[in-house]
Amino acid sequence: MPLKLQADLHTHSVASGHGYSTVLELARAAAAKGLLLIGLTDHGPAMPGGPHLYHFGNLRAIPAVIEGVRVLKGVEANIIDRQGGLDMPPHYLDKMEIVLAGFHEVCSPAGTVEENTAAMLAAMQNPYVDIIVHPGNPRFPVDPEKIVKMSRETGVPLEINNSSFCGSRAGSEDNCREIAKLIARYGAPVVIGSDAHFAEQVGSFAHALAVAEEAGIKPGQILNITVERVLAYLEERRRRRGRTK
Ligand SMILES: [Zn+2]
Ligand SMILES: [Zn+2]
Repeated sequence: MPLKLQADLHTHSVASGHGYSTVLELARAAAAKGLLLIGLTDHGPAMPGGPHLYHFGNLRAIPAVIEGVRVLKGVEANIIDRQGGLDMPPHYLDKMEIVLAGFHEVCSPAGTVEENTAAMLAAMQNPYVDIIVHPGNPRFPVDPEKIVKMSRETGVPLEINNSSFCGSRAGSEDNCREIAKLIARYGAPVVIGSDAHFAEQVGSFAHALAVAEEAGIKPGQILNITVERVLAYLEERRRRRGRTK
């Protein structure tokens, strides 16, 4: 019996420029799959064809619950320099209900393993960053042990990205497996994300879940296994940086 996850924290709408479903379609697909929560995490403004900052400034226009699915309004920010800087100013990041961060071609400078690792470690220590996405991307190789240790230390989960096994970021598979094994070994937190760019892919976790299980990751390590756990984590992150909501 495969593990049932209640939340998909990584989805894209048409606003990303290369996403093909509306927010309503994403929420409907989530409801149809029995998900209780999704993260609406369109790409940050540095992504070609991505949304202007005003997109993020007006997210309040979207209801908190659509089709019975809680929609967390957030961003998948781009790590844009070797210091872990993001393509969104702090006063915007502070308003997001969820902030993913990761490397993306065109937006992020690919460097040596040392440089990429330093940038990712810095992003993980950024109080606005909640989750690091697709750390197994072979275009931005990192030191897997260093990032998993930092994840355990900071409590910021790394993502096992399902789309990395379906054609995105070709060549990710082995890196993802290695990172998953280290996550299991160090007992670090983890997120399983679909990275859906079309509604049908919302809640598609099969490949990433299989890798997690094979690596020996315990259900208790998976943040998005329940809505309660997701919301408690995000609330705690915001409380720690001095924000109550
Ligand atoms: Zn991404
Ligand atoms: Zn994404």
